[in-house]
Amino acid sequence: MAKERQIIEIPEFLTVRELATLISASPIEVMKQLISNGMMKTINDQIDYDTAAIVVEEMGYEAQPVIEVVEEALDDEKLPAWKRLYANEDPKNLERRPPVVTILGHVDHGKTSLLDVIRKTQVAEGEAGGITQAIGAYQVTHNGRKITFLDTPGHAAFAAMRARGAQGADVAVLVVAADDGVMATTKEAIAHARASNVPIVVALNKIDKRNANPEKVKQELSDVDLTPDEWGGTTMVIPVSAREKKGIDDLLEAILMTADEAQIYANPKGRTAGTVLEAELDKSRGAIVTLLVQNGTLRLGDVVLAGVAEGRIRAMFDENGKSIKEASPSTPVQVMGMSGMPTAGDLFTTYKNEREAREILDERKQAHALATVKGPRNLSMEDLLKQFEAGVVKELRLILKADVQGSLEPIVNSLSDLKVEGLGTKILHAETGNITENDVNLAISSQAIVIGFKVEADNAARRLAESNGVEIRTYSVIYQLIDDVEKALKGLLEPVYEDKVIGIAQVLKTFKVPKYGKIAGCSVRDGEARRNAKARVKRGSVYILENATVGSIRRETEDVREVRAGFECGIGLDGFEDFRPGDLIEFTVRERVN
Ligand code: GDP
Repeated sequence: MAKERQIIEIPEFLTVRELATLISASPIEVMKQLISNGMMKTINDQIDYDTAAIVVEEMGYEAQPVIEVVEEALDDEKLPAWKRLYANEDPKNLERRPPVVTILGHVDHGKTSLLDVIRKTQVAEGEAGGITQAIGAYQVTHNGRKITFLDTPGHAAFAAMRARGAQGADVAVLVVAADDGVMATTKEAIAHARASNVPIVVALNKIDKRNANPEKVKQELSDVDLTPDEWGGTTMVIPVSAREKKGIDDLLEAILMTADEAQIYANPKGRTAGTVLEAELDKSRGAIVTLLVQNGTLRLGDVVLAGVAEGRIRAMFDENGKSIKEASPSTPVQVMGMSGMPTAGDLFTTYKNEREAREILDERKQAHALATVKGPRNLSMEDLLKQFEAGVVKELRLILKADVQGSLEPIVNSLSDLKVEGLGTKILHAETGNITENDVNLAISSQAIVIGFKVEADNAARRLAESNGVEIRTYSVIYQLIDDVEKALKGLLEPVYEDKVIGIAQVLKTFKVPKYGKIAGCSVRDGEARRNAKARVKRGSVYILENATVGSIRRETEDVREVRAGFECGIGLDGFEDFRPGDLIEFTVRERVN
């Protein structure tokens, strides 16, 4: 009988050296096999699965692709976020898990109060009172079923997490104060929840207040497509009072019903994976990391890899600081033993041993370094359009901010009507007010661009947008805005750049400076001469040099970055020495004009 062949698991791509290691052969042997199959490869060349499989089979083994259960599913944007973690699990292994709930809403509408009240009234009998909650999440039991609450209210945290591709929550509780109604932040929160496919339950808080007006708030909710079920809609709107501890049971019931509809499952025996909720560095104990288990079961001693941190779990605690040995899906835990600090929102998975985890960590660090060199993910209109054309995204997603409601409406209407060959726009969020970090976070996580009409982006928003390559476009004329979006849809929107003159210097005399070559002694006539600008040289009415790099600008003997009009300086241009007195050196910067 033929001997059964050893199975070798091969990734989609690997180097010749890695393949040799996998089959315990020398790289030379592998290279010889490749040559005999007509392929010249060096030891560090990458080969694909099919090529590697030929070598593996010829060397007497059986090839099989590596099945990367979790990571593969995580990338599947089409799946609702909470299903990605167990997408590749066999349905027969799936079990219902407690829903993970995040609380969102406008400031002062009662998020913190509600979280407090839920924790105090619902924790298991006997434990209440003496509890010191150690971590930013807790579990309550309602009618024998558990619910996990993320204790970081505010959608900024939620948005930041989403922006990193993570998904902690299965259900969003939107807190709306009955005396105040739907506010700007409420709408942002709705946009975030919707963009991540998280169902919303509304907690209509502060109904104890004399000026509470639930009917008015329900109307406002209907206006933003959260029509209460009692009005024939699909949104559960639960009147509560955090102050008087009223309606809490109803709210928990509504959360469970919503969760049941959303079919929140996990395989407790599957590959362990989840999300990092928090990480802090303790001087004596090292990294203390809060994890939310979302699939599989996390155990003491497991090797965990989260973002660019890795380690074996030395100690594990539940939300009350009690030491535990294992944690099932939807359980928040605090763990110690990780080297390095993961970031909130990183996904974590477990590995068989530290060696395996470290290898992947090294790859990640390299990829991370590479990505940093390459710069941030670009989300300019043109780039999105490329994805759009390639069918990666089906609509051009926009986040719209305008100065007043009166300008928002016509813009939204015109944009919604725009259709170019069946492709259209999707406005994820439209609101009055300046462009904030929240808008940018929503753009990052939803692959959208931010459009402002007669508004500005605040500094924090600009910084975040710049570091993440999110495009913010602002307009002051409606038809230009619409025109640009239409052009984008048509694929016509090529960026137009113009060189803008920011300063002019006149050459007075020339001289030679050791190391610097020939330098023009100039007087700055207009604007400023700037070291990091480009320069062109005009003699009479003719440009004799264009687009030159400024080599040096010196005042007296010092190198300077810029010199303003009215001052004299020495200017050197790279690769050009033919200055003559009277020449004008124009300093230009490239600016985008559309
Ligand atoms: P957050 O900013 O959304 O976290 O709101 P807080 O929980 O801090 O609550 C803001 C204010 O509203 C506090 O002064 C609370 O005491 C008050 N508050 C919260 N819930 C209720 C409620 O149900 N009824 C009344 N009357 N006041 C409430």
